[in-house]
Amino acid sequence: MISKYRHLFGPVPSRRFGRSLGVDLTPFKTCSFDCIFCQLGRTTRKTLDRAPYIPACQVIEELDDWINTNESADYITLAGSGEPTLNSEFGRVIDYVRKVSTVPVALLTNASLFFDRAVRAQAAKADVVKMSLSAPDQFSMAHINRPHRDIDFKQLVKGQCLFRKEFKGQLWMEVFLVWGTNTTPKDVSRIAELVQAVAPDKVQLNTAVRPPCEEYAYPVPEDQMNALARLFGSAAEVIAEYSGDTSAKIKANESDILDMLRRRPCTLDQICRVFNLHKNEAAKYVGKLLRAGDIRPHEESREGYYVAAST
Ligand code: SF4
Repeated sequence: MISKYRHLFGPVPSRRFGRSLGVDLTPFKTCSFDCIFCQLGRTTRKTLDRAPYIPACQVIEELDDWINTNESADYITLAGSGEPTLNSEFGRVIDYVRKVSTVPVALLTNASLFFDRAVRAQAAKADVVKMSLSAPDQFSMAHINRPHRDIDFKQLVKGQCLFRKEFKGQLWMEVFLVWGTNTTPKDVSRIAELVQAVAPDKVQLNTAVRPPCEEYAYPVPEDQMNALARLFGSAAEVIAEYSGDTSAKIKANESDILDMLRRRPCTLDQICRVFNLHKNEAAKYVGKLLRAGDIRPHEESREGYYVAAST
């Protein structure tokens, strides 16, 4: 059985948002960046053009259905198969959720369009905005984020600062560190300066614990991450692997697990935690999916991740 939704997925395990209902606002994989650490794979449409790639009315129809099923999630998260702010109608989706649901809306963005006042105004409708900054300068950004050629680093940072001034909700900043790439004390100190100038409510340091797009995007060892986090001051935290919760409300079958693995690679432990399954039960479903050829082990995985065979 295949999920009845085309633009909603999950709830999926999230290290930041607990059980997060994902909303996909772009076709795979449409982004202004092509980060070497991206867990979705390489960007196939690198663009700065904003368009209703997935019309808001289609997303709203599915959200309406999901809300009427009385399912629950800790967050409704605009993310998915690329950069959600490229969808020119993402503000309409947030407006709709705010009107019909009390579930908070989170927006995950690389902030590359925040130089545009109209994008900032739509983003400011969310409850939580998590934006990223993982480079100290244009040169490093070119290497780590491989952005669209028209993205200017200084303009991006300025857009982030302007958004902080305008946004009244929770602003989190994620810094993604890749071992040996942006981890010299000089680089990390400069990123920390830029982050502190924005003054977000939280700073989260992340690294490639999930299989990255490029094999050479190595994770930073935990002790090094903790040492580097100190450069960001007391607001910074190293994001631990998703710890899950004990909600019994998430029930799983093979189709739920397959749907999640279509969106992101997960380990058996992660599957157990998000669906509140005993390991034996999760292993039974994973075994069936493997035998049916619906999923496969992720080749680049260092920690036993599975992905959908079609990804
Ligand atoms: S900005 Fe996000 S979606 Fe886009 S390439 Fe980077 S990690 Fe992937």
